[in-house]
Amino acid sequence: MSIGSELKAVYDLIRSIQRDVKDAALQRAISEVLAKLNDVLFQLGDQIRATLEFERENQRLRQGNAEMKQWDQDKEQHVLKHLSPGVYVYAAKDLPGAGGATENKGPYLCPNCYQQRKKAMLQLAVKGFDGSHYRCHSCGLEVVDSTDRVPSEILIAKVREPGCW
Ligand SMILES: [Zn+2]
Repeated sequence: MSIGSELKAVYDLIRSIQRDVKDAALQRAISEVLAKLNDVLFQLGDQIRATLEFERENQRLRQGNAEMKQWDQDKEQHVLKHLSPGVYVYAAKDLPGAGGATENKGPYLCPNCYQQRKKAMLQLAVKGFDGSHYRCHSCGLEVVDSTDRVPSEILIAKVREPGCW
């Protein structure tokens, strides 16, 4: 039984006793006691509401704290990777090929979203002669990985091919 319901039971008990009291002075005294008890019940209600609100806020803070810790842990697993002049993305630290090899690349994480503590995968949109074009489906950012562009000697050879362009 909570304090609130126990106090309410006491209130009801005193009230039922009051019905049988004939003495007017005693009646007034009991009424005063009941009024005071009523005040206490109201204050208790306010306090319970405040405590619940405090607990909810505490819960929110704890959750935010846990998310921040999780993010910091995740951050440890990623490094900023230079794709082409002025183009940086985030990639897993132990990613095969993170050292610059063209095979086994990705997944890359969008640098825009990463700054907002969001992990959004960059999707390969198209492979052009200038490299792989990646797109973030969350914010729309497009980056070009020019490390895997078609080597210029192959491009030149292609241009010289009869019938090409
Ligand atoms: Zn993004």
